[in-house]
Amino acid sequence: MATGKRLTLSRTRYAMRMKYRLLKSAACLAAWVCLSAPAHAEWVRRVTDGIMGTRITVELWSDDREKADRAIDALLDEMRHIDDSMSTYKPDSEVSQVNARAADGPMRISKELFDLLTTAKEYSVITEGAFDITYASVGYMYDFRRHIHPDETQIGKALPAVDYRHVLLDPKNQTVQFSQKGVRIDLGGIAKGYSVDRGIDVLKSFGITRAFVSAGGDSRIIGDRFGKPWIVGIRDPRKGEGEVIARIPLVDAAISTSGDYERFFEENGVRYHHIIDPRTGHSASKVRSATVIGPYATRTDGLSKTAFVLGPEKAMEIYNRLDDIDAIIVKLDGTVIKSKGMSSARGSAPAK
Ligand code: ADP
Ligand code: MG
Repeated sequence: MATGKRLTLSRTRYAMRMKYRLLKSAACLAAWVCLSAPAHAEWVRRVTDGIMGTRITVELWSDDREKADRAIDALLDEMRHIDDSMSTYKPDSEVSQVNARAADGPMRISKELFDLLTTAKEYSVITEGAFDITYASVGYMYDFRRHIHPDETQIGKALPAVDYRHVLLDPKNQTVQFSQKGVRIDLGGIAKGYSVDRGIDVLKSFGITRAFVSAGGDSRIIGDRFGKPWIVGIRDPRKGEGEVIARIPLVDAAISTSGDYERFFEENGVRYHHIIDPRTGHSASKVRSATVIGPYATRTDGLSKTAFVLGPEKAMEIYNRLDDIDAIIVKLDGTVIKSKGMSSARGSAPAK
């Protein structure tokens, strides 16, 4: 009995010790799992205003919140750097210095600016002169916020300086020169798309494989949403921001929309807005909006102004010639036309 009792006691003590050991190892295991398992993965989204005068939106998938935040910080730093070097609103920017000095002789510039000027000239050739960064030779006299526009005499005087062929690039010496006085450049028609592409490069360098980045009307996507495409809405040019004319499913693509509703004012029945016809120096008003889809945002941004200058039919002819480009144009009467590729492979989901 006594033995039995002792046995019972020691059994109880043994059981308690085992229980304690089990609890201890369970706690260790839990701690180990917490330390070694990947942190909970999630979509991380950040919206930032004020870089390049526009709204930057970044959304990405990451299993490490801290790394995601660092990646977005680095992307925004890159965009601020582009704004600092390319804005014509900043007197110290590299582009402002080019405008001040490049008519005096060849001027050495950064590789980044040189490459972008080279790309801009390529787009001028592709768009038969509709995209032209020297539009600024006249364009600088417009101020859409303050409702200011040049008169006919001012336009007539400045117009000869508008021609992308006035921008002379020497790849050997990495210099730019303007062939005559009065030439000014402005990269506003390409810089946002370019900053989106650079931003995507930054995210990729952090190992991000699923992301959406937009700067105003220029966006690019890498990857999909786990088997589903991203859906990008195209705004109805004459309605509020939430009203769309089409929803485009996209994976690994860029999309840019230019609209005559972006920056404009009206005076005596004339709509003055921010896309300028390089041939006339006036606002180019042949369509209400143009959306271009392609592989890079620099390219889609550069090409999205074409329809305003050349008109919907001519622009569509150019877009259809380019294998990597699709487009949706809203004409002045509100009807919508699409490039050949839109009705087949890429397709578009109907607006709701
Ligand atoms: P956002 O600036 O919102 O991206 P767009 O992509 O439509 O809008 O680009 C419009 C900008 O392009 C203008 O604000 C101006 O800086 C620039 N631009 C205007 N006309 C031309 C043109 N003919 N060629 C190249 N750039 C232009
Ligand atoms: Mg743009």
